[in-house]
Amino acid sequence: MIPEEDVRVVVIGGGAAGMATASRIKRLKPDWSVDVFEKTSYVSHAPCGIPFYLSGIVNSISELCAYDVNFFKTNRGINVHLNSEVIEVEDGYVVVNERGKLKNYEWDRLVFATGARGKTLNDRSGGKNIICVHTIEDAPRIKEMAKERKRIVVIGSGYLGIEIADALSRQKSVTVIEQGAHPLPEYDEEISDILLGRMREKLDLRLNEKVISIEEDGRRILTDKEEYKTDLVILAIGVEPEVELAEKFGVEIGKTGAIKTNKKMETSKKGVYAVGDCAETTNIVTGEHDWIPLAAPANKMGYVAGSNIAGVEMEFPGALKSQLTSFYELEIGKTGLSELEANRHGFNAVSVTISSNTKARYISSKEKITVKMVADADTGRVLGVQAIGSDVSKTIYGASALLYKRAHVEDFFFADFPFYPPKSPVWDPLVVAARNLFRKMGIS
Ligand SMILES: Cc1cc2nc3c(=O)[nH]c(=O)nc-3n(C[C@H](O)[C@H](O)[C@H](O)COP(=O)(O)OP(=O)(O)OC[C@H]3O[C@@H](n4cnc5c(N)ncnc54)[C@H](O)[C@@H]3O)c2cc1C
Repeated sequence: MIPEEDVRVVVIGGGAAGMATASRIKRLKPDWSVDVFEKTSYVSHAPCGIPFYLSGIVNSISELCAYDVNFFKTNRGINVHLNSEVIEVEDGYVVVNERGKLKNYEWDRLVFATGARGKTLNDRSGGKNIICVHTIEDAPRIKEMAKERKRIVVIGSGYLGIEIADALSRQKSVTVIEQGAHPLPEYDEEISDILLGRMREKLDLRLNEKVISIEEDGRRILTDKEEYKTDLVILAIGVEPEVELAEKFGVEIGKTGAIKTNKKMETSKKGVYAVGDCAETTNIVTGEHDWIPLAAPANKMGYVAGSNIAGVEMEFPGALKSQLTSFYELEIGKTGLSELEANRHGFNAVSVTISSNTKARYISSKEKITVKMVADADTGRVLGVQAIGSDVSKTIYGASALLYKRAHVEDFFFADFPFYPPKSPVWDPLVVAARNLFRKMGIS
């Protein structure tokens, strides 16, 4: 039994999840020693802000850090080690390459908060004109490189590809290559078709096209259809969890490829936790293990793990993969499952897609939103909502709160969303979608 005041916690990774864990532990157990090792020069950084740095909305990458390292050291008493990579994990200690020197640090509780890394295409994709957007340290390099280059190709049209393409296409000639039939492959066509039309007005969008190789240091791209000459290639083809250290240490990896955790965020090894993009969680709609690499769940997983480590029992219920993005003036969002995903999970999915005003007609009849609602025809439970147009965030916020509570179609209809002419129509778009859906399902 370790004396209460002598507990040593080691956190590997100083992103959102790692710093949330460390902060929570120090709040509950100010006397414990908490060491965070971060291999880059930044902690509590927000990669989510990279597209806004590229577009000029954010001026410097230091603004992308929620707090600077001194805040964590001085105000929270956390021992933060920057430029310090954990290279080995053993029972009771870690080996750290701390600015070129190898050092051992002992632990009684260990937290993996190693995040995710951007996928690369293949071995031939390395080259000085190819960049994978992942850490905030990539951001100034992309900005600098983009300044001098004329033709930019973005590979991948997930939310990251869309946001980068939006930022760069305002000044440069941008081509987006996507192997699927639609941009934002996690969405259903009714939503992504609207985005597709807008993207075609702003850039060169190539769909159903698979990149075979990137040659000549990123100056030439070969796809299964064409060859492109380019000056800069940006890879935005998805992320994968960073789990090597955990795997080597013998921690169980789940089917999703991320670290398996229970609801307390504890791994298969007692006293060892995993949080954020490297960890699995539960998908609240399907009830199954899922990998949801997004910032809001990452912070909460950290809060939950920190509480449990410090002796305050708490469970993380999971997440809905709620997300928002935008392309020029179009906002796009999703919470829960698309119809395709619902069918894939074996639900008897039924859906409606509606178009609605987002304000009282006499204020503006121009601002429209398209909403797709998917439900389980057998139970009436809503499984997911997607939206595109104006004021999408409001719709996705409302929908995700209801989905979290496992709401049914009638709950969406009777939810008491307020009416105020400059801000909302009297029939909220979610209410209209629910009304159409329960009519279609023969409920009323
Ligand atoms: C460009 C971009 C845009 C995004 N936009 C959004 C968005 O709009 N909304 C949203 O919800 N999410 C978004 N995300 C995802 C979001 O950034 C992540 O979900 C979030 O950062 C996860 O936090 P984390 O702490 O788990 O991982 P990370 O932020 O990746 O932090 C992990 C940290 O661990 C460090 N590390 C790894 N291995 C070691 C080691 N061996 N030793 C020491 N340190 C190590 C890494 O350097 C890193 O700093 C975006 C991501 C990117 C890349």
